[in-house]
Amino acid sequence: MIDVINPADGSVVGQTPMMSAAEVAAAIDRTCAAFPAWAQKTATERSTILRRWYDLVRADKRVFAEIMVRENGKCLSEALGEIEYGLGFIEWYAEEAKRVYGDTIPSHDPNASVLVMKEPVGPTAAITPWNFPFMMITRKIATALAAGCTMIIKPAEETPLTAWKLLEYAREAGIPSGVFEMVTGDPKAIGEAFTSDTRIHKVSFTGSTRVGKLLASRCGETLKKMTLELGGNAPFLVFDDASLDDAVTGLVNAKLRNSGQVCISPNRVFVQDGIYNTFVERLTAAVSKIRVDQGMQDEFVVGPLINQMALDKVTSLVDEAVARGATVKLGGKPDVKGGLFYQPTILCDLDDSFAIHNTEIFGPVFPIYRFSSEEEVIRCANNTEYGLVSYAWTRDVGRAFRLSRKLESGMVILNSGSVGTASVPFGGIKASGYGREGSYYGIEEYVQVKYVLMAGQNR
Ligand code: NAP
Repeated sequence: MIDVINPADGSVVGQTPMMSAAEVAAAIDRTCAAFPAWAQKTATERSTILRRWYDLVRADKRVFAEIMVRENGKCLSEALGEIEYGLGFIEWYAEEAKRVYGDTIPSHDPNASVLVMKEPVGPTAAITPWNFPFMMITRKIATALAAGCTMIIKPAEETPLTAWKLLEYAREAGIPSGVFEMVTGDPKAIGEAFTSDTRIHKVSFTGSTRVGKLLASRCGETLKKMTLELGGNAPFLVFDDASLDDAVTGLVNAKLRNSGQVCISPNRVFVQDGIYNTFVERLTAAVSKIRVDQGMQDEFVVGPLINQMALDKVTSLVDEAVARGATVKLGGKPDVKGGLFYQPTILCDLDDSFAIHNTEIFGPVFPIYRFSSEEEVIRCANNTEYGLVSYAWTRDVGRAFRLSRKLESGMVILNSGSVGTASVPFGGIKASGYGREGSYYGIEEYVQVKYVLMAGQNR
């Protein structure tokens, strides 16, 4: 068994099995064996089962939220927010299951009809990270099941308890063994088992770019379809004409969510000359009011980082920036609480040669850069291997449209710090991956297109 640790106090809050290769293989076998029957169910039958799962989980939201606080460290209000977000995917895809339409195409042959059918890709596999223990599971499994695919999931070692609870409720809702399977254990061996099995037709992965590339190369050998939701280095642009207070609130909410451990967390904040000083002042005032604490309470607090490696990474990025001349406006150190808590930190006077500019921070740190012109800031924002999301604040409509075209990312968020909901296509470009989750586009990732020529009609 693997212990599951509460990052807020180091206590053991549960365990998950270290499954053997034989156990993983048996679960993959069940996933593959269950596929034909699940694919043959009508869309309405699949939809009804998903909806039942949604209702059961919704009724026990608090149970899930408390597990999440214990194994992930995020605060209760955030955990409840994540559950709403994650339930949204079950609800959305329970509906979308019924709308996987095909096409007819005007025929090139007068004696024929041309049909385009959409079929589930087959048995699928997924690997998820620890930062959204609930939503990462539901947005993959609900999409797969709605399309008629079966899925086996390996959740993150740090947060498997939420995942097991979701499986328990899925069984209660009537999602059978094989249709939704779960394994935990050695990530490398499980990844190898998923990617090398020719019966698995798709792998969906959310996690680091390093592991994403590794899995993509392995999937290449068996030519599997993939969805890759990987790392980010999100720019957050604030122009002189922005609504300042809204931009500050948007930034604080986007950055401190999950203590900054979010792939879409603003990682580089660019503020224009004319408002730079005022913006930094207001941001400092807003962030100073937020407490650092364990999360089992209603108030929003900045919780612990997930593990010692995460704390060491954030500490070394900030220390390096300070040693090279960055000014600390707030925080700058691990919190006095000790353990895995880090102070919300605001840094100024940095440039693109600092490690913090080119690294996904994954901590409650706001690095602020100053800029003068639109051309300059677009160049700076795009100066990263990543391309998940870009945020920009401006009241100039022409500029907003220019930014939406010129910022190199899968998502551009204008005048808001909030990105996700089930009805929009979430995903990145460049080293942030490919494929989309959520919306109509998400289910397209789980179907294949079959062209049927029905000829010989006019005998
Ligand atoms: P990670 O190390 O890549 O881990 C993610 C998952 O991959 C975990 O389940 C992990 O298992 C598993 N894994 C690790 N090594 C593996 C291997 N060799 N083969 C197969 N699976 C393997 O990422 P993380 O540090 O947990 O998560 C943070 C990263 O995820 C960040 O870069 C973040 O930006 C990214 N992320 C992206 C999105 C998005 O939607 N784009 C969303 C959230 C997070 P174990 O837990 O058992 O090690």
